[in-house]
Amino acid sequence: MARILILAAVLSMAALGQDAGSHPPHFAVERLADGVYALIRREPASLWFNPNNVFIIGKSGVVVIDSNISGNYTQEVLDELRKLTDKPVRYVINTHWHDDHVTGNRVYRDAFHGAKFVGHRSTVDDLPRTGAANRKSALQNGRGFVGLLESKLELNENLAGQKITDEERKAYSSDIELVNSYLADSPMFESVMPTVLVDDRLFLEEDGRKIEILFLGRAHTGGDLVVFLPKEKIAFTGDLIVHPVPLVGSTSYPLEYGATLERLRKLKARVWVPGHGPVMRDDSYLRSMIGLLDSIKQQTEASFLRGETLEQMRKSVDLESFRKAFAGDSQHKSFVFKNYITLPAIAAAYRQLTERSETRASAETGRKE
Ligand SMILES: [Zn+2]
Repeated sequence: MARILILAAVLSMAALGQDAGSHPPHFAVERLADGVYALIRREPASLWFNPNNVFIIGKSGVVVIDSNISGNYTQEVLDELRKLTDKPVRYVINTHWHDDHVTGNRVYRDAFHGAKFVGHRSTVDDLPRTGAANRKSALQNGRGFVGLLESKLELNENLAGQKITDEERKAYSSDIELVNSYLADSPMFESVMPTVLVDDRLFLEEDGRKIEILFLGRAHTGGDLVVFLPKEKIAFTGDLIVHPVPLVGSTSYPLEYGATLERLRKLKARVWVPGHGPVMRDDSYLRSMIGLLDSIKQQTEASFLRGETLEQMRKSVDLESFRKAFAGDSQHKSFVFKNYITLPAIAAAYRQLTERSETRASAETGRKE
């Protein structure tokens, strides 16, 4: 039964891909400045992701920020671009190498001869190694995850075994659609690597518009890029900002994340477009994220100094006030907070602290010899 349901869902996604025009789009289009558009996703925050996209349209060409979790979704974004302009895409900037931001790259490569792909230099190492390993496990576990969510929907319970809420129902259905699209796309997967590499910054001038591509430090990954329009004062932050619950995953650097966000805040943008979540007109959400990341750093460093193990650290670090601030009364958002902050962020901080102390110890030994 479950297998038939999954198959039906895969088939319906395949149909959606071929006939995206007859469905409401998966995003809302917001015009932010002359020629600058953000495509803000409508999928609810959950365990799988599709990122916001951006078009920066000039007289002779277009800069696109990020592709999507499958070719179908990227084709839908490209179809939207075609309603705004017939100019070619000259650059695709990938804010980082996670699959939800790069999988659809091939759609732009195939549609635009000579389109350049911009990424942080670390992408060249991370995408074929960690990226490929993550992709393999997502593909191996995807069908099982869909089956699990479908059985939970049938049982009227959430992943923690509690009575399911409407919010969870919508989130699980959205996750099922995203995973199925990803699985259906997987035979066509190709890693389209960056052709323009950024170390610290890259300044483009496209049809008279200044576009700054900045690496402000390690945070969500080891190579997050921010795209800043200095004249318009618009910052596209990639997953440095994720709303309503930030995402500090196993490939994040929680000990540096807060400081990187502080440098981001110093851009003093008028408009912030996060990797996931709504357009923001002030830095209040960014400041709450800095508070969370600073607290994770302080608490995990203090725990490590006390000589605690990872298990002890998990018990002593208290993020309850932040869970309340970000998740409110939502059972679903609390679950997301646990899975995208509490569990992975403490593990990643512990990993960073262990690496630091090993580096320090080997430097000490080197000095003695
Ligand atoms: Zn993302």
